[in-house]
Amino acid sequence: MFESLNDRLEGAFKNLKGHGRLSEVNIAQSVKEIRRALVAADVNYKIAKEFTDKVKDKALGQENVLNAVRPGEMMVKIVQDELTELMGGQAEGINLNGKPSTILVAGLQGSGKTTFSGKLAKFLKSKKKLSPLLIAGDVYRPAAINQLQVIGEQIKVPVFTIEDNKDPVEIALQGIAHAKANNFNVVIIDTAGRLAIDEAMMNEISNINEAVDPNEALFVVDAMTGQDAVNTAKAFNDVIDYDGVVLTKLDGDTRGGAALTVKYTVGKPIKFTSAGETMDTLDVFHPERMAQRILGMGDIVSFVEKAQEQYDEKEAQKLERKIKKNKFDFNDFLSQIAQLRKMGDLKGLMSMIPGMGKMTKDLDIDDSAFNKVEAIIFSMTKHERENPEVLNMSRKRRIAKGCGQNLHEINMFIKQFDQMKKMMHMMSKGKGMGNLQNMLG
Ligand code: GDP
Repeated sequence: MFESLNDRLEGAFKNLKGHGRLSEVNIAQSVKEIRRALVAADVNYKIAKEFTDKVKDKALGQENVLNAVRPGEMMVKIVQDELTELMGGQAEGINLNGKPSTILVAGLQGSGKTTFSGKLAKFLKSKKKLSPLLIAGDVYRPAAINQLQVIGEQIKVPVFTIEDNKDPVEIALQGIAHAKANNFNVVIIDTAGRLAIDEAMMNEISNINEAVDPNEALFVVDAMTGQDAVNTAKAFNDVIDYDGVVLTKLDGDTRGGAALTVKYTVGKPIKFTSAGETMDTLDVFHPERMAQRILGMGDIVSFVEKAQEQYDEKEAQKLERKIKKNKFDFNDFLSQIAQLRKMGDLKGLMSMIPGMGKMTKDLDIDDSAFNKVEAIIFSMTKHERENPEVLNMSRKRRIAKGCGQNLHEINMFIKQFDQMKKMMHMMSKGKGMGNLQNMLG
């Protein structure tokens, strides 16, 4: 995400880092490069200029920057603060005070509305413990209704639709009535989009907006479309005066312009970002964390939060007991992989760890390593999974055949598994790193 912006900004700071002291000249030079970096990331020139003027004023205005021991780092901090400010400062929640709460989802066709509606439903159900109902208001494309139904089934959230009805206002209102009567406390209305803004679409979304008067109207936009995203955001805001923006496809090759300038241009905060096609890839937008990521500092807070979401205390205690007794087995290993998988895609996860984003940038990291290991374990019998020590040569041969891998790979995996098991056992007995070092010689 935002890799080339990150590279260019780093280049701008590098210039400063080479100098022992800052001067007006090298600050000006660095600021110019920051501005270039922003424009290359599809930030409108006027905004980029205003941004860098502020950075420059702050840098020059602060004596301590000029005299700082590490002037480059002071500049990074100034830019980080300004980026956070540009993106809205604080994270903003959504209004869920209705009975039921109504959330209207608008945007162009293909922006990711239907996918987002599903992700939001899942988010509200699993994290906010609400009971959502999805309303299929895209009446022009039967495939869209079907798509929402498939998503609904997947996340176990019901979808309301009226067959052969072409009036989205009526569908929305009846859907809300249905929610009231059936104890759903939040409804998400997916609406139709067009490929480009046109009057008919604007009239329609405006009619739905007036009839429903939603607690929260969200505008969904594809981050890959850069400045266009910001222009569309403006056009929709003029018509429905929405509450927040959802930026999708941040997993793609986005330059960053939309994320950086939508708040400034439209005056509405980004509330969520979406980075993938699976239902777990929705994040609450935090300007400060995004600024850190843009500057290549990772986002360790989000990383820990994601890990905590998957953390099941009972499971963890059970696992700890097993490790202590040196009874960690292949089933436990499988469930650890499943938990990691639930946290999201691996490359995205690794990029949240400070310093890792750059290292993993050109690597082709995917889940296939997990698939291989899982295939090996799935080829074991129940007895073998629970008792790793029984794996003798003939059993290993049979497993190799079963999963289509060679014996060497099976041996390697089992050896690594044994080492890991030993290590975890030692750590659990509180002997910690000292003992670990002994073990490693
Ligand atoms: P709609 O027409 O606005 O309802 O858009 P859809 O929800 O049908 O999404 C259009 C396409 O974009 C689909 O193929 C989605 O799977 C894909 N999509 C949606 N959100 C994301 C995202 O965050 N990342 C990626 N990579 N693809 C997405």
